Formats: sequence, C-alpha cells, structure tokens
Amino acid sequence: MKSYKKELWFNTSSRRQLINITGEVEKCLAESQITEGLLLCNAMHITASVFINDDESGLHNDFEKWLEGLAPEKPYSRYQHNGYEDNGDAHLKRTIMGREVVVAISDGKLDFGPWERIFYGEFDGKRKKRVLVKIIGE
Ligand code: ZN
Repeated sequence: MKSYKKELWFNTSSRRQLINITGEVEKCLAESQITEGLLLCNAMHITASVFINDDESGLHNDFEKWLEGLAPEKPYSRYQHNGYEDNGDAHLKRTIMGREVVVAISDGKLDFGPWERIFYGEFDGKRKKRVLVKIIGE
C-alpha cells in the first residue's frame, strides 16, 4: 500500500472565507501516484472546516447568512468562550460545517458526484492555517 501526506497552507484576507481547494487536492492526488484508494482532507484548526458542496456564489452567500443566523460573530459577549479570544462563533461554525471529507479515488481521479467540490471554510482567518491531505491506496 502507498501512503501520501501533504499540508496545504492558507492565510485569508478576511475573517470568514470559503475557498475552492479542489484543484490543490487534485495536484496532491497526481503527486501521490495513487490511482485506487481513499483521500482524507481535514482542517487542522478548530475554527476552520473542510466540506464538500457546490461552487456557486449564491449558495456561498446563503452559507454566510445561515451561519451568522445560527452563531453570529457579534456581540462577542454572547459567548462564554470569548475572553482571551473573540472566536466563539468560529468554533460553532466549524462544528456545523465539519472537520473533514473523505473521497474515493477511482482510476486516478477524485470519484465525485456531478457538482461536488472541496472547500476550505475559514471562520477566524487573517492568519496562517493548515489543511492536511492524506491519501492511502495503490
Ligand atoms: Zn477559540
């Protein structure tokens, strides 16, 4: 069995941002030379997510509104977690958007449904954060 690991780095210019990372993950898959197996992709921080959904700007605006409705950033005093930090909302947003995705690899490709794309969801950005890509197979 072959095994491959890579860390992808992100540093968003805004506090919250959704980034399509499908291309970068596909580069990892090509580098790994694995054609049959499983790919894991996870955020390594507890205020960021990796998830699969549609690359459609209306939907991305809907995610922002929906998440702000569930866990608004402000007032910071709303969250017991906020004292030393101000990212209570980001922890909650990350939890609902998920930590990781697992994608099947078939014939050397990510075995997606028709509109599936992989996204990095940043909820407390403006600093360097990592995503782990781990691929196993043959
Ligand atoms: Zn925190």
